[in-house]
Amino acid sequence: MLGLGFVKAFLVRGAEKHVLVDSGTAGNSMKIVAQLECGGVNPLDIWLIVVTHAHADHTGSLADVVQATGAKVAVHRLEAEHVRTGMSPPAAESRLSRIMFRPSTKPRAVCVEPDILVDDELDLRPYGVAGKAIWTPGHTRGSVSVFLESGEAIVGDLVLPRYMAFGPPAIAFWAASREDSIASIRKVLDLRPSIILTSHGGPYRPEVLAKLVRC
Ligand SMILES: [Zn+2]
Repeated sequence: MLGLGFVKAFLVRGAEKHVLVDSGTAGNSMKIVAQLECGGVNPLDIWLIVVTHAHADHTGSLADVVQATGAKVAVHRLEAEHVRTGMSPPAAESRLSRIMFRPSTKPRAVCVEPDILVDDELDLRPYGVAGKAIWTPGHTRGSVSVFLESGEAIVGDLVLPRYMAFGPPAIAFWAASREDSIASIRKVLDLRPSIILTSHGGPYRPEVLAKLVRC
C-alpha cells in the first residue's frame, strides 16, 4: 500500500518486474517514487500501471508517474476516453449524488494515452505479476479490480468506507450503478480473496463484504 493522504495506490511486487495500481492525486508522483525507492524498488522496474478508474484521485499523477517509470498504462475500454481527455467519468445514479458530484466540464487530470485497453480481463503475468485485472463496473462503468494469485483483491472504489475515509464497508451512494456494484462485489468474492484492499479506508475481510451483498 502506498499511502497518499486520503487515497492509496498499490505496488504489486513481482520477482523482477512490478505493477502499480493507480497513481494518486495531482502532485503525488514524488511521494510514489520515494515510497518505491524506500521499499527497494527501482521505478524503472514498474512495467504497468493499472488504472482502477479515471477519477482524479486515482489518475491525477498518472502522466508524471508514467514519465518517472516508463510503465505502460492499462485502463478499461469504457474509461479510456476519460484518461485520454482528463475528464472525470460520471459516478452518479441518485438525484442527490448527481447534485453533489456534478460531472466537471473541465479536465480534472492530465491527459494520458492508454497503452492497453482492458475488456473482461487482463493477465498481469507478462508484466511480472501473478494475477489479473478484471472488469468490476459499479462505482464507474469502466472500473477494474486487480486479483492476485496470492489472494489479495485490490478493488479501487468498488467498495468505500461508510464515513468517507473510515468505518465499515459500503456501496457508495454515488456509484454509477448500485446493481453493477453488487454484481461486481460478488464477482470478486467468487474468486475467494483472502483480503479486499480498497483505495479509501479498509482493508476488509471477504466475509464482511459478503454481508453487504447478501440478498
Ligand atoms: Zn472514484
